[in-house]
Amino acid sequence: MFKQLYNEATLTLRIEPEGPMLIKAGEGGADPTRPDMEFVRTIYQGRETIYLPGSSLKGVIRAHCERLARTVQPDDVAGELSKRRLSCDPLHEKISCSQQWEKEKEDLAGKAEEIYRRSCFVCRLFGNTRLASRMRVTDAYPDDPERVKTEERNGVAIDRVFGSVAVGPFNYEVATSGTFTCRIQVRNFTIAQLGLLALALRDFEMQRVGVGFAKSRGLGMVKACVTEVAFRYPACTLKETLTLPGSNKPGTPPTQLAGAGKFIPGESYGLDDGDSIALPDGVVLTADDWGEPYVTLTDDAQIKALWRECVKAWRQVVEQVVGGRW
Ligand SMILES: [Zn+2]
Repeated sequence: MFKQLYNEATLTLRIEPEGPMLIKAGEGGADPTRPDMEFVRTIYQGRETIYLPGSSLKGVIRAHCERLARTVQPDDVAGELSKRRLSCDPLHEKISCSQQWEKEKEDLAGKAEEIYRRSCFVCRLFGNTRLASRMRVTDAYPDDPERVKTEERNGVAIDRVFGSVAVGPFNYEVATSGTFTCRIQVRNFTIAQLGLLALALRDFEMQRVGVGFAKSRGLGMVKACVTEVAFRYPACTLKETLTLPGSNKPGTPPTQLAGAGKFIPGESYGLDDGDSIALPDGVVLTADDWGEPYVTLTDDAQIKALWRECVKAWRQVVEQVVGGRW
């Protein structure tokens, strides 16, 4: 989409199970001593361990962002492709951003800006069949493999009509303790995108989001917390202000966080020129030894203060959509 890498946010997320959690491995193994449903495993630091795959975590985060976006999106906007929408429904043929192109077999080669404009807010962050995702989530590995505990549980599936056992008994493996850390990277972010992501992560932190197998039955409750947020601006220079060489847009003071709208030329992407917010008190951008502007936040209160400012930008987008101005 955007040829240049203007900015990049890297969030470190620590996840801890609050009760039993299972992210299923793809296929049952041939080993009869193993449970029927096993946790995904990998070799990490030379030993076998369970882990939380980045693709599963990204799916859970996306689904929650869609949910948050849909609760504030007016119904008449949700059902119409021609309207600017906060979230489509990727599983709904008529209103999915991806499906609108597949049905008509439209030739969209070289029309990156048009694809972007016709994609919903959530697709612009997470991607769709024609738009690359701006976000990447790494696998979450245990901080200390010694502290990871797994247990075997037994279950049956009950037939809804007859009340008899439909499947099972089967046994499944759950993780009950340990902490896992992953990184979430967002390239060419806008402040409003960070705002929606921050809201979704807040709900993780408040244990409102489940991960993995049998969420509806209460499995997979996790406690998650963002322990570090780092921003860098690889294409920019920092003197008095943060500026993109060759750009005619005004620079951003080092006490502010600049979103992609501050750099992307032209009106075509419909990005907001004023895409910046104040960094928390005492936090400023500096240049590293290589001259690259960056800032890192590790203090919980500062991270929360930053998120609150980002959420304001997201709410502005919501107001624009509700008012038909986006
Ligand atoms: Zn969409």
